[in-house]
Amino acid sequence: MNSNPDVIIVGARVAGASLAILLGRMGKKVLLLDKAAFPSDTLSTHHLSHLEYVKKLDVLEEVEASGLRKINRMRTYIGDSFIEGPRASYTLIPRRDQFDHVLVKKALSYPTVDLKEGYIVNDILKAHDRVQGVKAQDKKGNVHEFKASLVVGADGKNSFIAQEAGAKKYNEQSPVRPVFYGYYHNVQPIVEPTTEIFLNKGRIGFLFPMEPGVDCLGLEVLPYEFSEIAKNPERFEEIYRQFYGMESRLAQASLQGRIIGTTGMPNFYREAGGNGWALVGDAAHSKDPSTGLGMNDALMQSFLLAEAIEAWDNGGSWRELIKRFQKQRDENLGPGYRLTLDYIQSRRALTSQEESLFQAMAANPMVWNKVVPHLPQLLKQQSQHMPELYGSVEHEAKSFGFEY
Ligand SMILES: Cc1cc2nc3c(=O)[nH]c(=O)nc-3n(C[C@H](O)[C@H](O)[C@H](O)COP(=O)(O)OP(=O)(O)OC[C@H]3O[C@@H](n4cnc5c(N)ncnc54)[C@H](O)[C@@H]3O)c2cc1C
Repeated sequence: MNSNPDVIIVGARVAGASLAILLGRMGKKVLLLDKAAFPSDTLSTHHLSHLEYVKKLDVLEEVEASGLRKINRMRTYIGDSFIEGPRASYTLIPRRDQFDHVLVKKALSYPTVDLKEGYIVNDILKAHDRVQGVKAQDKKGNVHEFKASLVVGADGKNSFIAQEAGAKKYNEQSPVRPVFYGYYHNVQPIVEPTTEIFLNKGRIGFLFPMEPGVDCLGLEVLPYEFSEIAKNPERFEEIYRQFYGMESRLAQASLQGRIIGTTGMPNFYREAGGNGWALVGDAAHSKDPSTGLGMNDALMQSFLLAEAIEAWDNGGSWRELIKRFQKQRDENLGPGYRLTLDYIQSRRALTSQEESLFQAMAANPMVWNKVVPHLPQLLKQQSQHMPELYGSVEHEAKSFGFEY
């Protein structure tokens, strides 16, 4: 009997572990390899706004069982005014060490799925232009060879598998904005758990309420501010205190651990696969985290790739299936990618004139009486180059009863 796995997946976080769950359900023999051990953290905040995939993977209950708050509202501050509203569905903010671990445990509940932790994949096996497996080094320095019909790179934005397989990048845009975040205890809460977004002087603050008494505070800053904050992490809080209400709300708060940061995330697509290989998650598509879509997009790709693998099992041509997978993937990712690029590129500090006018309008109900009836048309006209912006608002509005 052939003891090789059917599929080797390099990387066992959101993308890799979710694909392993889907393949485990199909009874496929899967070997997950990761240089990390689980549970462990990774560089990421964790705003999870689309929970359908989590539900379909049958892990939603376990994710929620860790005491996370269900966040039903979003508030956006412009200077010291804000607009707040309910969301069509709730959001969760699960820490990555917990979320990834729930996925890994679920994958390992299938008897055909195996995980090797602490294995660094550092070579790819190829014959006649076909990827046939990988070599990986364990913690003791021993090198192991693994072969399979398919090698999947779920190994993040700097994917080794993508590099070795020669996956070309397209639609690229360099990182635009540095991101920092930290976990705080005892930030004074507002009445209901609400994702709070602060647009202030060209910076964006994100307050994610996780569990009662624990919040994740994120900050996208201007490129020149990266080294200043990296060298003086207390600058993070100084900037946060400038956001409306945060001076007093942070008075009793304390940072747990340290402020973590990156100069920014690269934006690109990579070719989705080829002879004996495929990519999912950030390995295949990476973008700025400001729109909080990375995990959801990784899950979506796993569902699409699992479908392609099933069709391959049923006799389909891999060459055709991988082409179709890439097309479907790009169609699904396109709107979110365009919105993200537009968001990060068009962000600018509002002028003090614009802010003053908004403040005056925000506090005047007679103005809103005149403005609200015209908002749909106004947004539609102002975002003609970006139809998905109006589309996403319309989509959500329909769940509140909007008809047009
Ligand atoms: C600052 C920041 C904030 C973010 N905030 C959000 C947010 O709020 N919401 C959201 O949805 N997304 C967010 N994202 C994006 C999100 O983190 C990614 O989209 C997501 O982690 C992609 O998952 P993945 O499984 O593809 O890759 P990763 O999470 O990067 O996992 C890759 C895995 O591969 C393993 N690996 C890599 N190379 C090798 C190798 N050679 N051998 C063995 N193992 C290997 C790594 O150890 C790792 O475990 C954020 C990202 C950043 C940087």
